[in-house]
Amino acid sequence: MPVSAVPDEMTVPRFLGKSTGKIDFVKKLVPEPGPGELLVRVKANALCGSERRQFFGGSEVTPGHEAAGVVADAGPGTHTAVGTPGVIYLMYFCGECRSCKLGFTNQCLNKRGDVGFNKDGGYGPYTLINESIFFPVDEDIPLAEATMLLDVMGTTRHAIERGQRLRQDVESIGIAGAGPVGLGALAMAKILFGAEATVLVSDLVPYRLGLAERLGGEVVDLREQTLAEGVRSHGLDAIDLVIDTSGKSVARQSYLEVLAKRGVLVCAGHGEDLNLDVSRDLIAPERAVLGSEYFCYCELASNLELLREHRPYLRQIITHKYPVQDIKEAFELFFEGNTGKVIVEQ
Ligand SMILES: [Zn+2]
Ligand SMILES: [Zn+2]
Repeated sequence: MPVSAVPDEMTVPRFLGKSTGKIDFVKKLVPEPGPGELLVRVKANALCGSERRQFFGGSEVTPGHEAAGVVADAGPGTHTAVGTPGVIYLMYFCGECRSCKLGFTNQCLNKRGDVGFNKDGGYGPYTLINESIFFPVDEDIPLAEATMLLDVMGTTRHAIERGQRLRQDVESIGIAGAGPVGLGALAMAKILFGAEATVLVSDLVPYRLGLAERLGGEVVDLREQTLAEGVRSHGLDAIDLVIDTSGKSVARQSYLEVLAKRGVLVCAGHGEDLNLDVSRDLIAPERAVLGSEYFCYCELASNLELLREHRPYLRQIITHKYPVQDIKEAFELFFEGNTGKVIVEQ
């Protein structure tokens, strides 16, 4: 039974797209949790670059896949108490396939959907989820900050650790793109590798480069220098581990040119191509190019510890908060590039 009264109806933003990011607000019934389900009262949802298509093209479901909220009602057979705060994992994993059994819930072989892409997500005030994708957080962590456990910390740490498996002696890290995921990768690299590691961040947007500098990154302003020039200007010959968050061919290609022997390039941003000369680029220097998609549910626990330890540092990544009524304005500012992470609250 719900502790506080859950209304029968709610108002949710409807993404109409129409190439202009048209959004109106419509009434919907608040769903009731069935067996194994939780109804979450969403308090904060972070905007994501991956929502560009939904914003401009429209969406059948309510978007939002970086949500944090409080359990408002719990269905039969669940174990999470009403009132528990937490975040929502993106993927409806089965928990039983070969991948899930090994912990690779991000590579579930029977995935049933993604929150905010084909199931209603976090821009509405209530969302219905399977209990298995809810991750409880401590009550003293503001829910806007808790959203960072998802793409900002989760996705980036997963990418970094995939690289580390192939390269143990990382001294220099390069990050393509200083958007929210790039800034998250920078922060996680600083936390995981310590102050000694050089973390280089490249981008074209001054606002984002300024933010990267504040987080301790060595910035390369690609409006003023090439990546190779930037690498040399920071006293490096080559980079051991590269995380591409830009999804741009030109970025991946130019990082490949400065990738060290035994270096690893991890592609974490969806988008364009990468051309490889296998002999020259991979075999002779024994380099690796990897993909990295989201993260495993089981990684949330240790990221929560890191968030607790480094909250003042990490929360600098959140630069703007908007009430859900102003969600269109929030997206417009976000896509202009002059933001870190933007949060919609309700
Ligand atoms: Zn996202
Ligand atoms: Zn599975």
